[in-house]
Amino acid sequence: MSAGPERVIRDDIRALTAYHVQSAEGMVKLDAMENPYRLPEGLRREIGEVVANAEINRYPDPTAPALIQRLRKVMGIGSEYDILLGNGSDEIIHIIIQSVARPGAVVLAPRPCFFMFSHYAQFAGLRYVGVLLNPDFTLDTGAFLRALTEHRPAVVFIDYPNNPSGNLFSDEALAQIIAAAPGLVVIDEAYHPFAGKSFMTRLAEFPNLVVMRTLSKLGLAGIRLGYAAGRPEWIREFDKVRPPYNVNMLTHLVAERVLAHHDVLDAQARSINAERERLDGELRKLARVTVFPSKANFILVRVPDAPRVFEGMRRRGVLVKNLHTGMPLLDQCIRLTIGTPEENRRCLAAFAQALAEH
Ligand SMILES: *Cc1c(COP(=O)(O)O)cnc(C)c1O
Repeated sequence: MSAGPERVIRDDIRALTAYHVQSAEGMVKLDAMENPYRLPEGLRREIGEVVANAEINRYPDPTAPALIQRLRKVMGIGSEYDILLGNGSDEIIHIIIQSVARPGAVVLAPRPCFFMFSHYAQFAGLRYVGVLLNPDFTLDTGAFLRALTEHRPAVVFIDYPNNPSGNLFSDEALAQIIAAAPGLVVIDEAYHPFAGKSFMTRLAEFPNLVVMRTLSKLGLAGIRLGYAAGRPEWIREFDKVRPPYNVNMLTHLVAERVLAHHDVLDAQARSINAERERLDGELRKLARVTVFPSKANFILVRVPDAPRVFEGMRRRGVLVKNLHTGMPLLDQCIRLTIGTPEENRRCLAAFAQALAEH
């Protein structure tokens, strides 16, 4: 007799619910930190040509020399460091966690932070420790350092800026944590294009540091490309766990072409930043709203009744992220992705109206 999933699939996997992507059909989509801008016509045609000429009958070259060279140049990654490419930085998180997954190994991160760290830790059977942030989402450095001593994590993940709070943790605190960590520290700079700060320039200082980024928030979420830079000793090991052809040829080609015109993306990031500052100012004029300062392409706000504001906005055609799901410190919080000026105008109007209706 053959066994069904309840006999075969792990209990902890069956207890999970699959990651649900909210339907955004016909709505202003401000729930996933995407860049709202398309690429200019000329660049789109250039991409079309590159894709049309791609030898898609062949497997991609995993060393992707043209793309790697472009990334080094645009992102200022020195030749003394190696680069790991991933099918989104999600895959890089997965690869790193699998590489350290000895029985009993610990993955540690601030809490709240990006949810995939704990997810992949669980899949790999590792213990996950979340160190609670202060209520204003700054790092509790003392608690973090104590947690390092107590749990001896194989790997620490830190978002810089932090998702979902949007703030940059203090450089001094992070430097102290990296220096004190007994294992690897991965600084996740998914929001680097909006932050104007980075640990990429500090790789030389810390032998246990890897810096991870993605092109997703920069404007290329659809092609799925993440990368991690660090000393060859680390990257070499991760490379063994990486599926041989994890990043497809079209992603290699398109990313290389778009990065050749990175001034376009940089200009988009600048206007998103300007809009963030404007929206921040407008939100602060509203009564009963707490606005958390952000260096990313989203703003976290606390309202009196987040599920109601979320629903009220949805009825007005604006999709945002309700974070009031029982996570510590995110009580009554909503995350608003920054869109185009017109989208932000609609977002703000929907937000203010939803807030006012009771
Ligand atoms: C969005 C996000 C990622 C995932 O990026 P992908 O490259 O699209 O997989 C990783 N880390 C943080 C903090 C994010 O917010």
